Amino acid sequence: MSRYKDEQCRICRRNGQKLFLKGERCYSDKCSINRRNYAPGQNGQKRAKLSEYGTQLREKQKAKAYYGVGEKQFRKYFEMAANSKEKTGDKLLTLLESRLDNVVYRLGFASSRAQARMLVTHATFDVNGKKVNIPSFLVKPGDVISVREIEKENGAVKTAVEENEARPVPTWLEKEEGKLSGKVIKLASREDIDLPIEEHLIVEYYSK
Ligand code: SF4
Repeated sequence: MSRYKDEQCRICRRNGQKLFLKGERCYSDKCSINRRNYAPGQNGQKRAKLSEYGTQLREKQKAKAYYGVGEKQFRKYFEMAANSKEKTGDKLLTLLESRLDNVVYRLGFASSRAQARMLVTHATFDVNGKKVNIPSFLVKPGDVISVREIEKENGAVKTAVEENEARPVPTWLEKEEGKLSGKVIKLASREDIDLPIEEHLIVEYYSK
């Protein structure tokens, strides 16, 4: 069980960087990267140099971990991106950012994407006034995401809003101060996305 609970931290340790997968804990002294900044496992302290394939694979795994997306769905996003008129890597990140669970996290209604996913699944949010409980729902410009009336006293949402008050909301979203809602101004473009992902490596991985 403890191994399962540490799985997200193991992903960070394998990558040698903080991926902020656990909300508040990631900003505290309890963060595993602060305490054990080496790869998990018996030989973790000797970091092996990765092959080109290994580097590409790791970048893909890192992006999947950030957004909490499984392989099948991640590949589907890649195919959508590859079939679009935009640069594949950029479009891939735009699609991932447009997921409802990510938007809920970005608006500060959850402390991590994992928590956002759980809250969405439990029907905590409306999109344009209608209940949506699908974390992979893709938002579009003009959509309004709000905490459902019945969930306004939800303790998890209240705590997350308090904890994340100072976390900046990206410019492609607009949070309505004092209300538990926000609007999608435009879709996120590459420069709006602050994650250290080298998307060209992911494109190379799937293009083999
Ligand atoms: Fe764990 Fe968060 Fe630290 Fe990553 S950043 S090691 S998920 S506590």
